[in-house]
Amino acid sequence: MQQLTRNVYAETTFHGANLGCIVTGEGLVLIDAPPNPTNAVKWQKEVNSKGEVKYLINTEAHEDHIIGAFFFPVPVISHEKTREEIIATSTKELLDIVAAIDPAGLPLVKDFKKNVPTITFSEALTLYMGKHTFQLIYLPGHTPGQTAVLIPEEKVLFTGDNITNKMQNFLHSANPIFWLESLKKIEELEFEHLVPGHGPVCDKSVIAEQYRYIERCIETIKKAIDGGMTREEALEKVSLPERFPLPDELKYFGPIMLKQSVGRLYDALSQRSVSLW
Ligand SMILES: [Zn+2]
Repeated sequence: MQQLTRNVYAETTFHGANLGCIVTGEGLVLIDAPPNPTNAVKWQKEVNSKGEVKYLINTEAHEDHIIGAFFFPVPVISHEKTREEIIATSTKELLDIVAAIDPAGLPLVKDFKKNVPTITFSEALTLYMGKHTFQLIYLPGHTPGQTAVLIPEEKVLFTGDNITNKMQNFLHSANPIFWLESLKKIEELEFEHLVPGHGPVCDKSVIAEQYRYIERCIETIKKAIDGGMTREEALEKVSLPERFPLPDELKYFGPIMLKQSVGRLYDALSQRSVSLW
């Protein structure tokens, strides 16, 4: 794990989502958890050496952020929509992903059950721990329940997958219009270190690049809609602009999620689907 400030650590090299570990005077707060059980056990050992874990925050409901919560039997905090999505995701679906990404780790999850969030919020939540505050901010975009975590005392922001750095984005659960609005709100927050959902830790400069990428995706799909393409034709013929090549770990799921992203944007921008959340 990488030490960012006096009390904030991040892990950005595991398979799946980036992770956070914040050391407070009243114990540890974790942000997201590894989907790969072998890494989860490694992460468990590393964080246990820093203190006792008290809470885990889920920034979103995608599998690569939530599976590893099984290894941390503490209360999980998330947006209420993230809780709903986690409840709606079957245990089998999660274990199938583990089987695909870490077959050797399967014995570690033989008693697997979801660690469903028990503390939720709708707009914002502040958690006070020792001298630290954790501001959980609802910033929908990449997923319906997308949450950023700001720790002002350390000037660190964890954005979840609303921002990825040097990594492809996936829009298969996204509302692109909300996403752009949320990026503008992130720009206004005060912090120095930005821990994205995937990729290396960065600073505010990545926000503009992320914003432009979502705009380019919107333009691509709008062009298809305005040109009279049906959803089926768009799925067949249109690809989203490539931001970064897919890493090896996404060679299987990546192309599927990119295809789903086209359909999702088509629905969002043609307003075919009345309730996009
Ligand atoms: Zn995600």
